[in-house]
Amino acid sequence: MKTNTLHNALHVVFDLDDTLYAELDYVKSSFAFLAGIISNSYGSGDCENLVTELLELRRLGLSNPISALWDRLKLPESGLPEAVAAMRGHRPQIEPRDGVIDFLNILRQADVKYSILTDGRSLTQRQKIAALGLGDAAHIYISAERGVSKPAIEAFAQIVQDQPSIEKFVYVADNPSKDFVAPNQMDWLTIMLKDDGHHIHKQDLSLPMPMLPRISVKSFKELPQIFGFASTLFPGSQDASGTAASAP
Ligand SMILES: [Mg+2]
Repeated sequence: MKTNTLHNALHVVFDLDDTLYAELDYVKSSFAFLAGIISNSYGSGDCENLVTELLELRRLGLSNPISALWDRLKLPESGLPEAVAAMRGHRPQIEPRDGVIDFLNILRQADVKYSILTDGRSLTQRQKIAALGLGDAAHIYISAERGVSKPAIEAFAQIVQDQPSIEKFVYVADNPSKDFVAPNQMDWLTIMLKDDGHHIHKQDLSLPMPMLPRISVKSFKELPQIFGFASTLFPGSQDASGTAASAP
């Protein structure tokens, strides 16, 4: 695959949550935002302690830690929906995972366009994308805006329709239960970012083969080599032949 022809041939699509950034960081950011509301609007408790309590309630498996905390603090029921809506629209404190920006820069340099395909609420997902600095994505596909969620094949088919000249599509994502079955069926290259132990959704690798990714990587730093980009373009990647200079 020659770099100078890649822009005609390749389009890379990324999942958002737990792929481009760590979703647990979004949970923490949301809890901190909500704790700020509780502390500022209701004068209840110290923000840091509230976040710790919310994280603990979540760790214990409560389906709605926020509502549980709201009840414990005896806050007015009527304020909860507004606080949750504000939280869902907040600009989160999240960062791209290691290697994401370097890899995107390589794609930009090669004039390969990328898109984001994610399930979730419109404003919530768009705030995350803005916080990550990924506003230059060619297309952003969000389930709530389209009325179609993964694993439906329609979620992916639109991407192909929108870019008829592309020969090869790639989906980089993290959740085998819904991310890979449709793009596998459409003969996309599917790549899974392995759980580092902190992912929100556990990766079930005992699922049937059609649901599993074609390739798994531990980090975005492995991606340039998979696509045949020179490792010299990517300072973080390991090039076996590049270590000779330090040999005695
Ligand atoms: Mg995900």
